Amino acid sequence: KAALDKALWRRSMQLHREQQAWQKSSEGQKMLESRRSLPTNKEKDAILNAISKNQVVIISGETGCGKTTQIPQFILESEVNSLRGATCNIICTQPRRISAMSVSERIATERGEKLGETVGYKVRLEGIKGKKTRLVFYTTGVLLRRLLVDRNLKGVTHVIMDEIHERGIDEDFLLTVLKEILPHRPELRLVLMSATLNAELFSSYFGGAPVIQIPGVTHPVRTYFLENILESTGYKLTEDNQIDDYGKAWKSNKQALNKRKSKIASAVEEALGSADFSEYSQQTQDSMVCWKPDCFNFNLIEYILCNICENEKPGGILVFMTGWDDISSLKEKLQAHSVLGDESRVLLLTCHSSMASSEQRLIFEKPDSGVRKIVLATNIAETSITIDDLVFVIDCGKAKEASYDALNNTPCLLPSWISKVSAKQRRGRAGRVQPGECYHLYPKCVYDAFAEYQLPQILRTPLQSLCLQIKSLNLGSTSGFLSKALQSPDLRAVQNAIEYLKIIGALDENENLTALGGYLTMLPMEPKLGKMLVMGTLLNCLDPILTVVAGLSIRDPFLTPLEKKELAEAAKAQYSHDFSDHLALVRAYKGWKVAEQKRKGYEYCWKNFLSAQSMKAIDSLRREFKSVLRDIHLVDNKMTNYNTYSCDDHVVRAVICYGLYPNVCSIAHKETSLSLKTMEDGEVSLHSNTVNARVAKIPYPWLVFNEKIKVNSVYLRDSTAVSDSMLLLFGRSISSGDVDGHLKMLEGYLEFFMAPEVALMYQTLKQELDELFQS
Ligand code: ADP
Ligand code: MG
Repeated sequence: KAALDKALWRRSMQLHREQQAWQKSSEGQKMLESRRSLPTNKEKDAILNAISKNQVVIISGETGCGKTTQIPQFILESEVNSLRGATCNIICTQPRRISAMSVSERIATERGEKLGETVGYKVRLEGIKGKKTRLVFYTTGVLLRRLLVDRNLKGVTHVIMDEIHERGIDEDFLLTVLKEILPHRPELRLVLMSATLNAELFSSYFGGAPVIQIPGVTHPVRTYFLENILESTGYKLTEDNQIDDYGKAWKSNKQALNKRKSKIASAVEEALGSADFSEYSQQTQDSMVCWKPDCFNFNLIEYILCNICENEKPGGILVFMTGWDDISSLKEKLQAHSVLGDESRVLLLTCHSSMASSEQRLIFEKPDSGVRKIVLATNIAETSITIDDLVFVIDCGKAKEASYDALNNTPCLLPSWISKVSAKQRRGRAGRVQPGECYHLYPKCVYDAFAEYQLPQILRTPLQSLCLQIKSLNLGSTSGFLSKALQSPDLRAVQNAIEYLKIIGALDENENLTALGGYLTMLPMEPKLGKMLVMGTLLNCLDPILTVVAGLSIRDPFLTPLEKKELAEAAKAQYSHDFSDHLALVRAYKGWKVAEQKRKGYEYCWKNFLSAQSMKAIDSLRREFKSVLRDIHLVDNKMTNYNTYSCDDHVVRAVICYGLYPNVCSIAHKETSLSLKTMEDGEVSLHSNTVNARVAKIPYPWLVFNEKIKVNSVYLRDSTAVSDSMLLLFGRSISSGDVDGHLKMLEGYLEFFMAPEVALMYQTLKQELDELFQS
């Protein structure tokens, strides 16, 4: 070991010398200069000093001050210089895989090295790391998974957690786990880095750990809210600036605007014409959720962009959108525009978590002179990616947020209003290099109603996956462990999660992980979808199940444009003659795949009212899920277990039932309509999105469904009809071996619905089942 250490040390010294040589070159000098000019550099000694004296240190500073790229390097360099270099082993976590990859690449470039020498990264399914690697960027999820097999992070000398202000559920969980580990590993150092907000919270969580504030340089940013933007177009407001006055003012000013007929006026007219201001009139959170400003925003964004390009000083523009779908539709719209689509004048780029790394690099490049850079981004550009030459920011005020509907016990990812802190961050992006301008596409009064901070994810998502992780890490009782978190979730939410995990067979009666539960912890998706994949592999029908699971992970790929509702429904109906939305998707995807191979994917989607983006997303998710299954040895490399013989629809239906249980409703036929009931809600209705909402008769006694939504009554979305035997055999996890419990529960179920013909069927099946289990 001593010899190995010595050899490694010699190599790292050699690397150190090479790096010094590179730094002397002109390219290296330039890079070094720009690094030295970053605000973090001034605090270098203070930071290193604090880390050597304290086990936990918190560093907070403005986005772009150099935390992510510089601080890990400070630690690395000081370790190399202190002769401990050969043994230092630094892990830095990032909440997103794209930042783990891009930051490690950036640092390697700054050091004049290739990725995989001193610096590497490790994200799910991918990683670059060599023998000499001392600093590795992980996604939080990957570090959590490492803890499964390496509880005390053996050999790791420093853990740096970046972007902790985001308060994702994984980050909060990791913080709690690390806090437990620290006393057992006195030499381990923990560095927490955050944008400038509530650093004190983290400090007090770690017993008053020191906080180092990095002073930032920011330039003033001129701020416009919606009312100011509209005013600047010659659009007069009434005195008290009330929002519902926009509607009225719009009507009375319409004639005046019409007269001007300028380009601006017609753009605004178009924008306003499609907005419904009545929903603006209340400032409550409720009305904010109702506001559907998308097409309004698109026109307005186009107008503002055009105005900046034609009349304002040079400088890049950053547009904050909610997600990839919005970004790509807006991009299409802008590309068709005479000014904004002109490549000799505008460099139009996108920035979101699923972009390729070649695309990423473009964002940082300076455009040719006379060309204006426009970046359409998600909230990833808020704190984790810093683009330098920006002067203008357009903020739509929303971000996709994972939330938890306790009623459904299902998570959803919906655009919702950002917090005041986020709005401030977005605004700040405009003032990094010179005075800038920020356009908020919402009125000041809506901004005033924003929450100060966003609620941490642990308080607003279902805890099923988290509870599974706690179990798999052997961290004791879930509620006991979670009471030690930075902010503890509601006990009821924990109980809900445990109850659910028991029902689906991931935990046994004593809350111990079952074999199935063990697999579910290794699958990075909701437990119900993980269950489908596991059973899909066992029953050799993985191919259709991959499509179902991928389809349920994204938004509905079947489009229903309001004006063509009937045509769209008819298009979906051609795939769904057998009472299942899930099987309809399997067929639609198959059809698309065939068309896509002939390069006719778009036409196929257009004709059949499918979203081409969703189809592509399904395609790539399927590949991703397949490799996860390979990683955990559920399928082998050659995929011999993959779709070999059984793609029987009945089997697929049964697997869907296995995953969606306990979301079951009974079907009874009335004269002309269906009567549907669930055990918890009684009478329920079908949401218009499911094919089963449009049939008079369903030749099956049960429906399993994806989720329910409570509006006035309870509506079920995405359903598949299943038979008695499917529900009986697949309705509860049989892997738990709890046959008695299974039967008892079913009995209760059937009694509740009291359908005599079903009870009779059940008797026969029960006998069959008893025999089956005895044999
Ligand atoms: P922080 O983590 O404090 O927000 P960073 O360390 O990410 O700041 O960034 C520091 C500086 O390095 C930024 O001003 C940015 O311009 C620059 N930078 C970061 N990543 C890249 C990159 N991939 N290409 C070019 N410049 C970059
Ligand atoms: Mg950063």
